[in-house]
Formats: sequence, C-alpha cells, structure tokens
Amino acid sequence: MQEYDIAIIGGGHAGVEAAWISAQFDLKVLILSMPNVGLASAPCNPAIGGVGKGQVVREIDALGGLMGKIADSSAIQYRILNESKGYAVQSTRVQVDKDLYTANAEAFIAAVPNISVVKEKVVSINDGVNGFSIQTEKSAFFTRKCVVTTGTFLNGKLHTGSESNAGGRVGCQMSPGMNELFSKVSTLETRFKTGTPARLNKDSLDYSKFVEQKSDPKTKNFHSLNLASERFVEQRSCYIAHTNENTLGIIRENKERSPIYNGQIKGVGPRYCPSIEDKAFRYPDRNSHHVFVEPEGLTANTIYPNGVSTSLPKEVQLEFLRTIEGFEACEIEVYGYAVEYDVVDTSKLSDCLEYIDIPGLFFAGQVNGTSGYEEAAGQGLIAGVNAALSLLGKEKMVLDRADSYIGVMVEDLISNKRDEPYRLFTARSENRLYVREDNSVNRMAKYRLALGLSCEIDIHHQEFLDEYEILWNLVKSSSIYATPANKKYFAESGYGELSKNLAMDELIRRSQVNPVETLERELLKRGVSFSSEVLYACAISLKYEGYINRSIVENERIYRLGKKVINWKSIIAGNISNECRQRIEEVKPTTFSQLQRIDGIRPATLAFVAGNIIQ
Ligand SMILES: Cc1cc2nc3c(=O)[nH]c(=O)nc-3n(C[C@H](O)[C@H](O)[C@H](O)COP(=O)(O)OP(=O)(O)OC[C@H]3O[C@@H](n4cnc5c(N)ncnc54)[C@H](O)[C@@H]3O)c2cc1C
Repeated sequence: MQEYDIAIIGGGHAGVEAAWISAQFDLKVLILSMPNVGLASAPCNPAIGGVGKGQVVREIDALGGLMGKIADSSAIQYRILNESKGYAVQSTRVQVDKDLYTANAEAFIAAVPNISVVKEKVVSINDGVNGFSIQTEKSAFFTRKCVVTTGTFLNGKLHTGSESNAGGRVGCQMSPGMNELFSKVSTLETRFKTGTPARLNKDSLDYSKFVEQKSDPKTKNFHSLNLASERFVEQRSCYIAHTNENTLGIIRENKERSPIYNGQIKGVGPRYCPSIEDKAFRYPDRNSHHVFVEPEGLTANTIYPNGVSTSLPKEVQLEFLRTIEGFEACEIEVYGYAVEYDVVDTSKLSDCLEYIDIPGLFFAGQVNGTSGYEEAAGQGLIAGVNAALSLLGKEKMVLDRADSYIGVMVEDLISNKRDEPYRLFTARSENRLYVREDNSVNRMAKYRLALGLSCEIDIHHQEFLDEYEILWNLVKSSSIYATPANKKYFAESGYGELSKNLAMDELIRRSQVNPVETLERELLKRGVSFSSEVLYACAISLKYEGYINRSIVENERIYRLGKKVINWKSIIAGNISNECRQRIEEVKPTTFSQLQRIDGIRPATLAFVAGNIIQ
C-alpha cells in the first residue's frame, strides 16, 4: 500500500490548490482524481475572477497559491468589472482558454516533485488510528491527512429535459455518494444543483449583430510575479447579445418540460447564477437579458453563451437559442444540462475546514455547497494549508473576515447548515472598502509570513511592502504650498481650489480627484517613481483612509467581541431557548462571531453570552 502525508481526493480547482500549497511544506502529497478528467478543468464558464472573486484569486496568489498563475498563462481576454463604480468593488475577470487552463494546471502540478497524481476513482475512505485508508477501483493508499474536494460528482445526476443519467458532469462518470464513500460524514438532506448552457459552434453565429468587448490591455495580471500587463497568449474578444420576447415566450410555453419546474429536479440551485428558466418564471415582466458570447479557447470550435444556462429538452434549447439576434443559424455542439449532487453539512466543519468529529479529514470546494471556481480554490488553499500545518504540529491558519473574502466565506460556511449554494460577492464583506484587490499583498502578508515558507514570491512581497511604506510615508509628509504657480496648476489639473497649503493626502482624498492619476502626476513632478502596483494600492488606500479608519473604530468593539473564543458547552448549559440550544449544539461555534452568524440565534442568547460567558 502506498503511503502519503496528505491525500487529496479530487483534482478540480479546490484539489489542485490544496495540493500546491501543502506540497510547499515538503510533504508527500497525492492527488486522486477521476480517470479522463483534466486537473482544474472548467465544466462551466471558462472564466476566472469577477466581482468578489477577483479579490479571492489575488488573496490566493498573495498566500502563495496557484490559481492566479494558471489564469494568467491561459487568459485570452482581460476586463475590469464595475469600472464605473468605486475602486473597492472593482474586480478583474479573465476569459481563459479552457483546454490550455487544464494543460497549464497539469504542467504546474507535474513540475512539483512531491506531488503524485493518480487518476483512479475513489470508492471508499476509512479512518484508522493514524490516518485514513483509501480504496480506489484499482489500488489502496494510506494517508495521514485527507482532503476531500469531489465537486459535483457525489451521487451526481445529470438532467436534460426528461433524460436523466448518472454522472458528475457531462461525459464523466459519477462518484459514489458520501454515504458509500465515508458513511460517518453528514451530508445535507437537500441536494444542490447547478446548470450550464448549450455550447454553440463558433462559426454558426453572426458576430456583426453583437456588441464587441475587446480585451483590456491595462488590466493587471493576477500573479504578482508576472509583469502587470504582460500577455501570455493571443487575445480574443467577447461579445454581448440579448434574449427577447420570443426567447422567453418559448421557455414559458415549455414550463412543464423543464426539469427544475416539473419536479424532476429536487436539488436547490444557485440564487445568484439563475438558469434562463428561473429568469423567465421569476421575472415574468422581463424579456431581455444579457447573453455574453464567450469563446472557450483559441482553437476550440465552441462558444459559451453565458446567461442562458438550461436543462430544457434539446429541441427546446435549439428553438429558444435561435430567437436571439445573431444566433438565428446557431448549431449546438453540446446541450445544456443541470447536475444534482450531494453536499457535506459544513456546520460540522471547523474554521480550518476540518470535520470536527473526524480529525484529519478536511473538505473543500463545491462539495461544501459553494458554487464557483474561485470559491473552490480559496477553500482548497485553506484546507490544504491546515492539513499540512496540523501534520507538522504547527498553529492553524485562519483568515479573519475583517481582512479577507476567503475568511468571510469560511466563516459563513461553517456557521450554518446551507440551504442553497453559496457564492461570494462584495456585499458579503462588512469591510469591503478595505478588502480590495489592489491591497491583497498588504492584507495577506501576515498570514503568509506566519507559514514560515520562503520562496521568490515572499521576496517580491517584502519588496512591495517596503516600497509601499516608503511611498505612504512620503505622501504623509508632503505638502503642497499655496503659491501662485501651484494655484494655477491646481486649476488647470482639475484639482479644485488651492486656498491654503495642503497636505498631499488631503489632495488625494478630494472627491473630484482621481487618486491614481493625481498621485502619479505629483510624484512625476517631484522626480520620483514607484512601481505601478505600489502606486495604485497606496493611492486607493489614501483615498479611502478616512472611511476605513472610521469603520475600524466603529467595528472595533464588534470585532473585539467577535474574536472572543467561546465554549459552546457552557452556553447550552445556560438559560437560553431550546431552539438556540439545538442550533448551537449542531454548529458548535468556537468564536462569538461565528455564534452571531448562526441563523435563528436570538438577541437574548447573544446578550447572555456577551454578559455571562465572555470574560
Ligand atoms: C454543470 C455545471 C455547471 C456549473 N455552473 C457554474 C456556474 O454557473 N457558475 C459557477 O461559478 N460555477 C459553476 N459550476 C461550478 C464549478 O464548476 C465548480 O464550482 C468548480 O469546478 C468547483 O471546483 P471543485 O474543485 O470543488 O470541484 P470540481 O471542479 O467539480 O472537481 C471535482 C474533482 O473531484 C474528482 N472526483 C470526484 N469524485 C471522485 C472520486 N470518487 N474519486 C476520485 N476523484 C473524484 C473529479 O475528477 C474532479 O477532478 C458548474 C459546474 C457544473 C458541473
């Protein structure tokens, strides 16, 4: 029997991230993944990043993770989303070449000598004294820690119209359900579901009818060691089309044939990524929705029509798609479908994503009820790093929700039994003016440093932080004097009036001022230059400094209280309602913050804990 330190079951986005980070601790790591499924493959939209998710990719990158590297090396279109909104909610999104993304993931993993990849289906996991024995269809393995990242495969069932077949995703067999794999693990009673649109032959569309979106040359790469606007492969455009009355009319006429509306699918789908059927029935007055026409790769002959995910019968899919302007002659290469799958009860997981009752067993990714590649990768990193740290007897790594989206996600996940798929967006963070893409290195530095790892990225980050500090201090100690020449310069630059001497940071905070351009111009005037990443992060931090400081003060008591460690056993022994007692017993919260996030916990219980349990 082959022995490993850490075995990761599943080579999706969560699995490769868990393997990549845990291998940095010089441990012997194994990825076990289904035969004929590429590593980090994209069964849905081949795009990485987006609102709230771009921030996660940068956090992963700043922590030494892999996703940003793979995304940059496979990106065929770059964009900044929310560019017209505040800097805090702007996010990077790249369209990737789907095949290249997987090929690059395989190559990055293959280059790590202490990671082995075995493509065999796992059929059972058993816990023993010092670890877990894992049985695949062909071999047996022993591992000291185990990370399960099986995505949508557990008991997976695919639906297109009345057809339904077992499978993890199109063209892939399903995995045994959690009950068969490891019966000691609790899954949710309700299964989850997700769906995907038909893939269309790229030459069957009339692009002259769409609005073109070119790749933005200014959008910065995700990986901090890559030059900001370096491009690794040829760039392609995406396009925008729209559904119309006829499109939605056909869908509405076929309600009884839709597996999600005729009762065939019982699983709960992602609220924030609705199918076209959901859009048709939830919003009966709306007929026009965006359809993003996105290439699946440089050589792929398919496009992904983002926004029309469906599990309607095949002939209905073709009929409604052909009503869209530019899609009149479209040919379907792969039909849309929905998949239902088992989900682990994340209220049984600790803040390291470890199953509380089975130490050494971790869960990450879609199997935890999340939706999205970035959410999966973020959890993979947390589970992988903590599996490694616990094996080495080191302090766990838990990201605070006050300074990271990954921290927000993990705390949200473990604090409740999920009743619908979870996805990240900026409104989930109470601190979103601070938790931005541009300052990910600043935010993640303390966590990465605590891991005690040292490689090229750590040196680069230290240089970034040193340069940032120099620039910050320079701005804080610079003034602009109200000389006649400066007054004229202010008027001409659109900086507003200069009636008296002004601190440079005050200038940057002025509402009419673009912080990045202004800081750049002022530094140029003084003959000093800084790297564009440092300049950008510093300018935006200065712009929001007042708000961030105020919110730190306002939230200080909440955070101070939230961080308090609580003993859930003492709480349930106290004078609280039975409902609260049951919910607390189920989740076993370890901090006040986690307690606050449990659905149904009454203010009286929180007051009791704050007054009696917390010292
Ligand atoms: C049809 C469909 C539609 C989707 N739609 C969207 C969407 O609209 N938006 C969105 O953000 N996300 C969508 N997703 C989700 C996205 O694909 C996932 O969030 C992401 O891939 C999750 O990553 P993961 O690593 O958790 O799991 P996956 O990427 O699914 O990887 C799971 C891995 O586990 C392996 N595995 C499973 N069981 C076993 C076993 N028994 N033995 C060995 N290996 C095993 C598989 O081989 C695979 O490598 C969709 C997924 C599907 C399938």
